[in-house]
Amino acid sequence: MRAYNFCAGPAALPTAVLEKAQAEMLDWQGKGLSIMEMSHRSKDYVAVAEKAEADLRKLMNIPDNYKVLFLQGGASLQFSAIPLNLLGKNSKADYIHTGIWSEKALKEAQRYGDINVIEAGTAVDGKLAIKDQSEWNLSDDAAYVHYADNETIGGIQFANIPETDKPLVADFSSSILSAPLDVSKFGLIYAGAQKNIGPAGLTIVIVREDLLDQSKAEIPSILKYSSQAKNDSMVNTPSTYAWYLSGLVFEWLLEQGGVDAIYKANLAKAELLYNYIDSSDFYANPIAVANRSIMNVPFTLAKPELEKQFLQEAEQNNLLNLAGHRSVGGMRASIYNAVPLEGVQALVNFMDDFAKRNA
Ligand SMILES: *Cc1c(COP(=O)(O)O)cnc(C)c1O
Repeated sequence: MRAYNFCAGPAALPTAVLEKAQAEMLDWQGKGLSIMEMSHRSKDYVAVAEKAEADLRKLMNIPDNYKVLFLQGGASLQFSAIPLNLLGKNSKADYIHTGIWSEKALKEAQRYGDINVIEAGTAVDGKLAIKDQSEWNLSDDAAYVHYADNETIGGIQFANIPETDKPLVADFSSSILSAPLDVSKFGLIYAGAQKNIGPAGLTIVIVREDLLDQSKAEIPSILKYSSQAKNDSMVNTPSTYAWYLSGLVFEWLLEQGGVDAIYKANLAKAELLYNYIDSSDFYANPIAVANRSIMNVPFTLAKPELEKQFLQEAEQNNLLNLAGHRSVGGMRASIYNAVPLEGVQALVNFMDDFAKRNA
């Protein structure tokens, strides 16, 4: 029996995708071997890799002048790869700080360039929010502007894409494919796969072609976007199984009706959970309504001493991984694409029952 998994990452995958992978595990499409045992240069594997890219392009409507790279090292390696690739000609960049992940990104970038940090976090009526762009101090000569669309740990998300005439670079690790996105507004989008795409071990980078020629001279070739683009993300052996499995998730998303359809489902899930939390005296969410994440919903209990009991009973009810990040505590429900509405309903039912018994 499969439980409902609210893990922030590695996160829930669609059951249908895991069943397909299971059915193909020992003998991929009658070839007598697993996809894991194939050369990444074989015709069969290259077709799988190309299909995954084509489906992602379709899902996100990625324009032709963007490369899609399937890399390793997680989003965290991109914290270095981005400045190494983009600060070769002009070593200044703007970094918008809204939480723990954007902070890690800017700390790493500071090793490579002159980083203008924009403190964009604020509080409105006691709730955490993102300052309006009119209050940001963007520089005139930045090579790019970096932000994290969705702060997975804090549960705080941008309501709009920032406006800038500089290349916009965005960490979409926990929000890629959750809602429609105009890729043409970005210079670069990146995401670790293990939140809202597939298994850990794969990182997607979507980069505009005109940004491929401004890397620093000392950049390792494996991190160099132009080399990876020229070699179809196979400068070395890629994460073949994670790439394959992510391709199955893309097929599943297309079957669900694509990003528009999954966005509607995501809104319904988020509304159900936030409405319940707002209606309850026992639970609270710390984020201003306009900046609430539709993917990661942190909440606290009126009696924090009951947190352990809450988690234990949730687990007995097949509701898994609801503890908040170790750095912030409290609870967090990650409700990515693969978490169904029934799972969120089951969570709300449990929360309500728990509150009534412990008020
Ligand atoms: C999880 C996460 C990361 C780090 O991802 P890794 O793949 O573990 O390096 C970076 N940014 C955001 C927004 C995340 O959610």
